[in-house]
Amino acid sequence: MTRAIPFLLLDRLSPRQAALGAGVLILLIAAADYATGYEVRLSILYLVPIGLATWTVGATAGIAAAAAASLCWLFSFHSAHFYANQGYYMWEGAVMLTGFLAVVLLLARLRRALSEADERFIRVLEEMNAAAYVMDEQCGELLYANPQMFDLIGATTAESVNRFEADLHRDSAETPSQPVSLECDFVASTLHNRSTERWYLLQAGDIPWGSRPGVRLKVLTDITEQKTADALRQKHLEVLHQTARLATLAEIASTLAHEINQPLMVIATYTDACQRLLEMPDCDRTEVAATLGKCRAQASRAAGIIERLRDFIRQRQHRPQSCDANAIATEAAEMMHGPLAEARLVLDLILASPAPVLVADRTLLIQVLVNLLRNAIDAMQGIPAEARRLSLAVSTEAADEVLFSVADSGPGLAETEVANLFVPFFTTKPDGLGLGLAICRSVAEAHGGRLWAEPNPNGGTVFRLSIPSREVS
Ligand code: ADP
Repeated sequence: MTRAIPFLLLDRLSPRQAALGAGVLILLIAAADYATGYEVRLSILYLVPIGLATWTVGATAGIAAAAAASLCWLFSFHSAHFYANQGYYMWEGAVMLTGFLAVVLLLARLRRALSEADERFIRVLEEMNAAAYVMDEQCGELLYANPQMFDLIGATTAESVNRFEADLHRDSAETPSQPVSLECDFVASTLHNRSTERWYLLQAGDIPWGSRPGVRLKVLTDITEQKTADALRQKHLEVLHQTARLATLAEIASTLAHEINQPLMVIATYTDACQRLLEMPDCDRTEVAATLGKCRAQASRAAGIIERLRDFIRQRQHRPQSCDANAIATEAAEMMHGPLAEARLVLDLILASPAPVLVADRTLLIQVLVNLLRNAIDAMQGIPAEARRLSLAVSTEAADEVLFSVADSGPGLAETEVANLFVPFFTTKPDGLGLGLAICRSVAEAHGGRLWAEPNPNGGTVFRLSIPSREVS
């Protein structure tokens, strides 16, 4: 496990090598200065060994190098200096030493600041709840791995990390059965390790690492529990959805059966009576006409029962309150999180600004949007993942109307579908009930609004739900 981040080539020298190198350089510079008769003023070069000692060994070594360089200069130049007064010569030596010490202090401070930044970076990586490692992608060297990475793969060598990466496969919906290529820009991808049956979220991106190019930081978060919970929640939602649909169907069917049975029985009785009257040789036509009239009255009663049932469904569920249209759309989008993730879809949620306010039954409106989103996801099942587009937009086309639009890039609607879309029990799905859109339209109408479908100009379908922003009595 590598802890320190090397910034420069001289970071690779050991303190011993650096101290020795600095000493040798000071002597060489003094000798060269002496040999050139101090004409060229080589003393500026002392900054190199002083910098080397400070950077690699520390401030004390830097101060020692500065003192050694100044002394070398004083002693070697002593016999040849051209100053009239010895005091001036000593003064120049003191100025030089002060300059050297200032450089030492500045360098030491810079070094400490960089080390602290490193330390903070490494601390974050070590404290985080995920496995993290840094790879030099060009030479395949593992530069850093945190303890969580060690816990995950049991080793922190480049070979073990490479083996681990080779076992990771993208989520089947992305690129089926392909081993992961990690040589891409900063990305987050969901990966599956088939041998351990664990799921990971990999976040990888280039980071600066000293003077090395092509160094990537990779963070692996184990999301197996989250994946399992998502799958369970999705199943649970589906069961709930199915149960709710069946319950609605059963409720409607039993109420209808119960209420309509009576007029139907009466109609059957009157029809029998008409038949018997017509079979009689002296058939009384006025009596037949009167009986048929009674039949008609019973048929109207049955129609009335159906109408009352519709009103009942509308009124029973309608609980208007003042609510934020953006919040309704956001909540519907959140409820669809699981199905969207499963379908590899990113919902484009476009909210209105300022947020429109509605007086409506927010639960019912959320249910309508959830239903429309679910239908859109179902409709796009047969098209390639990369061609799937889904958006939910809130807008205010007119001052007194809020428009919710669910647009998909599915196959669109055939003519028969357009005609029957809102007819109860019309469905093209093998396990569909065909009640969703009929109920959605009833909800829209109960709010004084409308629900309709139109072709999406970019291909697919747009369902539009328009709700008046004033209260419906
Ligand atoms: P179900 O979902 O049970 O079939 P619905 O009333 O919600 O019942 O939908 C009725 C039919 O309308 C669906 O079976 C489907 O054929 C069609 N439909 C609904 N939404 C879409 C859509 N976004 N794209 C294409 N067809 C759709």
